[in-house]
Amino acid sequence: MTPDDVTLPRALLPSDGRFGSGPSKVRDEAVATLARVAHGYLGTSHRRDGVRAVVASIRSGLRDLFSLPDDYEVLLGVGGSTLFWDAASFGLVERRSTHLVLGEFSSKFAQVARAAPHLDDPQICETAPGETPIRPDTVDGDVYAYPHNETSTGVVVDVHRPRGDALVVVDGTSAAGGIRVDPRAFDVYYFAPQKSFASEGGLWLALCAPKALERIDRITRTRWIPATLDLSIAVENSRHDQTYNTPALATLFLLEHQLRWMLENGGLEFAAGRSDRSAAIVYGWADGHKYATPFVKDTAHRSPVTATIDFDERIDAAALAAALRANGIVDVEPYRKLGRNQLRIALFPAIEPDDVATLTRAIDFLLEHMAG
Ligand SMILES: *Cc1c(COP(=O)(O)O)cnc(C)c1O
Repeated sequence: MTPDDVTLPRALLPSDGRFGSGPSKVRDEAVATLARVAHGYLGTSHRRDGVRAVVASIRSGLRDLFSLPDDYEVLLGVGGSTLFWDAASFGLVERRSTHLVLGEFSSKFAQVARAAPHLDDPQICETAPGETPIRPDTVDGDVYAYPHNETSTGVVVDVHRPRGDALVVVDGTSAAGGIRVDPRAFDVYYFAPQKSFASEGGLWLALCAPKALERIDRITRTRWIPATLDLSIAVENSRHDQTYNTPALATLFLLEHQLRWMLENGGLEFAAGRSDRSAAIVYGWADGHKYATPFVKDTAHRSPVTATIDFDERIDAAALAAALRANGIVDVEPYRKLGRNQLRIALFPAIEPDDVATLTRAIDFLLEHMAG
C-alpha cells in the first residue's frame, strides 16, 4: 500500500489543513469580514480615508503590539521582505554590513550586500543549518543583520545588540507576531504579513528606531537610490499612512484584522503563547518518537513558529507529505533547498494548537500504514 492511498479517519483531520510556512493560514473570519465590506473597500483609492484608515490602524496596532518606544516609527512599502533587503543595501548600509548567515533567507540578504557595487564586501559569520548560531567577536560592519527566525531551518536567534554602534537590522519576517521581542534590542525589525500576520504577501513593514531614521536621512542626501527602494520616500509616505505606489488592499485589510485579533486577545503575549503551545505539542511529540526527531538539537534555539522535524531512513518524508496533502493537509514539505528527510510545520498564532495535536496523530496514523 502506498501512503497516498491512505484515507485519514475524520477524527484525524485538523479543522484547517494549512500548515505552510508562508504564505500561511489566513483566518476564515478575516476573509469573511473582507467579503462583507468589499464594496466599500476593495477597488477604492489608497489615497482616500477608507484605505488610509486601515494603514493608520496597522501602524498604531504594530506600535501597541510591540510596545514601541514613542520615538520609533512604523514604515511600510510594496515588495515584501526580499525588496527590503535591496532597499536596506541602499538606505541603511553606509559602507559595509555584517551578517549572521544560518540558512537560505539570511544568506540571501548577505548576497544582496555582496553584489552591491557601492558597498564593501560584507563580513559574514556563517553557521551550518540547524546548528546553534555563532556570533562574531567583533562587528566590523555599520549594519549588523540577522534573522530572528531562520524560516528555512527553524532556528531562532535571540534579538540582541552587540557592542559598538552598528545598526541592528533584524529580519522578523516569520518571527514577528509569533515570538516576543524587546524593541530596544533592534534598530530595524522588518517583516512581511504572510506569516504570523496571516495575511497575503507583497508588502514590507519595518519598525525603526530614531538611529535608523537618521541613517536613512543621511544616506539619502549623498547616494543615488531608485525611488521604489528609497527608504526616505517610504518614511514620507508612511507618515501619511500611504505607500509610495499602489499596495494590495486585501493584504492591508487582512493584516489589520489579524492585528486587532491579537490585540483584543492580549497582544503579543497571547499570540506568542499560542505558538508556544503548538511548539510544546510538536516538539514533545517528536522528542520521544520512534522515527522522528527535531532537526534543531539545541532546545533554546528551536523555533516556536516553524518546527523542522527529521525522519530516520526507514521513513520517506516526501511520501508522508504527499499522503498528508492527499488528505487536505498541505505545505509541510521541508524548505526545498535544505534537502533533508524532513517535515516543516508552521506554528504561527493563527494555527490552532489543537490542530497541531491532530496533525501529529494523523502523521502517526500514516506512519503505521507506511511501515506496515
Ligand atoms: C519569507 C521570508 C522572507 C521573504 O519574504 P518575502 O515577503 O517573500 O520577500 C525573508 N526572510 C524570512 C526570514 C522569511 O521567512
